[in-house]
Amino acid sequence: MNTTQTDNNAIITIDDMHKWYGDFHVLKNINLTVTRGERIVICGPSGSGKSTLIRCINRLEEHQRGSIIVDGIELTNDLKNIEKIRAEVGMVFQHFNLFPHLTILENLTLGPIWVRKTPKKEAEATAMYYLEKVRIAEQAKKYPGQLSGGQQQRVAIARSLCMKPNVMLFDEPTSALDPEMVKEVLDVMISLARDGMTMLVVSHEMGFAKSVAHRVLFMDGGEILEENEPHAFFTAPQHERTKLFLSQIL
Ligand code: ADP
Ligand code: MG
Repeated sequence: MNTTQTDNNAIITIDDMHKWYGDFHVLKNINLTVTRGERIVICGPSGSGKSTLIRCINRLEEHQRGSIIVDGIELTNDLKNIEKIRAEVGMVFQHFNLFPHLTILENLTLGPIWVRKTPKKEAEATAMYYLEKVRIAEQAKKYPGQLSGGQQQRVAIARSLCMKPNVMLFDEPTSALDPEMVKEVLDVMISLARDGMTMLVVSHEMGFAKSVAHRVLFMDGGEILEENEPHAFFTAPQHERTKLFLSQIL
């Protein structure tokens, strides 16, 4: 592992990274540096590799060429790194993946108690703190099935925060929600942004991108085709494929 060449302020450094699924070259020459406190929105057509990229960053998927360094830890086949990475990087999915047979509070304390060995009382206090933050503390004793989709997604965000991550990855966190629930989830993400969280968000919510992103990346065919600060990205896209994509979603 060589961290001397990395920017000290970088929390994620991806260098000439490639990934294949069998023969299929899904990610091509990915270069991306994310600095602490930076917020990046990733957009692009379905199948362009957005989820795969996000999943490589917390090692849900392996890459085959190039390097990914997260907070000084290089992601390699060395299994010892995995727990450290999972602690470092929080992840929120399109489908909330809460345990249906556990209460909201138990969903939040499971990881800290079993993975982090946090005492139960302390884990519960932390859980309640983050449930307050996502404005859902009064639901702590309920089960996921008793909550709306938007509420469940806020719980999923709180659950990630309980592990005290330094980076949060979001993969289309609002795309499975009914329209009236999108805003309550985006509001929680906006407040997280205001707290200075480093965030990588796969999303087509352009209002969100405009208000919180420092940079927007456009992916197509497994490559980062274009990136810019949001205003320039939306008003003056460079690439024909970006223009086409934006014309379809805006
Ligand atoms: P996006 O999130 O941008 O829609 P994905 O990263 O999910 O794209 O997928 C990129 C491409 O990789 C797609 O063509 C998809 O079918 C393919 N793919 C995704 N996961 C797998 C897998 N586990 N095995 C083989 N191909 C996959
Ligand atoms: Mg996806």
